[in-house]
Amino acid sequence: MTELLIRGGSVHTPEGPRQADVHVTDGVIAAVEPSIDAPGANLVEARGMYVLPGGVDVHVHSRDPGYPEKEDFASLTTAAAAGGITVVLDMPNTVPAVDSAGVLESKAALAHSKARVDFGLWALIRSTSTPEQLEAMAAAGAIGFKAYLAYSFSLSRKQVQYSPGSDDPDLEAPPDYGTLAKLAPVVARLGLPLAIHAEDPAVLAAFHRPVFTYQDWLASRPPEAEAAAVSAAAAVMRESGVQLHVAHLSSALGLQAAEDAMRAGASISLETCPQFLLLTEQDFDRIGHAMKMLPPIRSAADRDALVDGLRRGVISIVSTDHAPHTDEEKSRPFHEAASGSPGVQTLYLSCLQLAKNLGDVWLAPRWVSSAPATFAGLQESKGSVAPGFDADLVIVDPKGKTQVAEGDMHSRQRHGVMEGMEFDFAIKDVYLRGESVMRSTKARGRMVRPALVAT
Ligand SMILES: [Zn+2]
Repeated sequence: MTELLIRGGSVHTPEGPRQADVHVTDGVIAAVEPSIDAPGANLVEARGMYVLPGGVDVHVHSRDPGYPEKEDFASLTTAAAAGGITVVLDMPNTVPAVDSAGVLESKAALAHSKARVDFGLWALIRSTSTPEQLEAMAAAGAIGFKAYLAYSFSLSRKQVQYSPGSDDPDLEAPPDYGTLAKLAPVVARLGLPLAIHAEDPAVLAAFHRPVFTYQDWLASRPPEAEAAAVSAAAAVMRESGVQLHVAHLSSALGLQAAEDAMRAGASISLETCPQFLLLTEQDFDRIGHAMKMLPPIRSAADRDALVDGLRRGVISIVSTDHAPHTDEEKSRPFHEAASGSPGVQTLYLSCLQLAKNLGDVWLAPRWVSSAPATFAGLQESKGSVAPGFDADLVIVDPKGKTQVAEGDMHSRQRHGVMEGMEFDFAIKDVYLRGESVMRSTKARGRMVRPALVAT
């Protein structure tokens, strides 16, 4: 039996922060008490430190299988481990896309062979997906379903790609509101969330234009596209009772649409990202192409509305939409540069900083750990520093400083949007089921599955 005693830290417990020892046996938290005697345990002195539950990033793109030159499960989870993220939930637009139980199982085996932290897998909804396919993916352990409105499916390449309207016979039409209406009752019965990439294709088509500058980029992806998608998806899914999850919420208008739908009785969970909470369009000149992403980083008014939504608890989850590319793909002229950037390594620190700025640093583990763990059906094993939970723990020095620098990043794309930012915290160590993973290269990650799936 391996034993660990983390002594004297400021522990984030479900009842709030308190000074305590954390006793871990065989990877599971055995006790959280003011003073624990455990002779023989490996002792970790944590006086003056925060002891936080490991982060759960509900929205990452491993690129694996498909684009190992951009990222793979090893580089993704090395970055996650360095940043205190002990569970990553990977989106289904890898290649081949995760549209069947067989693909999900092969991807799980691949991830298991490389992952340094735990992982869960999202499943894809296509416009042709059947109830049987969804049931089989749920039985195979899918964490939830994702529908990319406005993204076609290449039949030959088995790949999701941005291309809303096309006569190309190789491209299957994107899932639309009809697809959501048809499949929502099935997903509701399975007890899993249905996430959307919330950009309405008709609004995008109306605002389509050549994109040479950041302002063109913003004009081509207006907040109306987000608001329309949220309203319409909520309207067609409301009767089913399914949980609609809005990925990477980016605008005041989108938030307003979600709140209106919630008041009308829709079951909605909202996720936003550090880049929308800490940055605005004004940062483009400083940051450059790393800021090219979808949806875009918008105005100060949008940022302020999202921070306020998070403060009020309407937005409960902060994820990253971690989406790296190669340096070559990011350094092309703006109109050709790839969309997306990394974020998983700076998620926890950026949220601690934001929570501190809002006056309550203990909000951060809720946004990054307990709320996302519950969202993903992992509320019995993850997201809490309490007896019976996995010993996924992050030791943070609240007097440390971290300046985000390319050289410290572990993703294949090292230059991200947080580059140069300084946080008033430093991560000292990270444990996955009782073993330090911050500097380890062991592939100890396991697949997580939601606890309450009806299949
Ligand atoms: Zn994404």
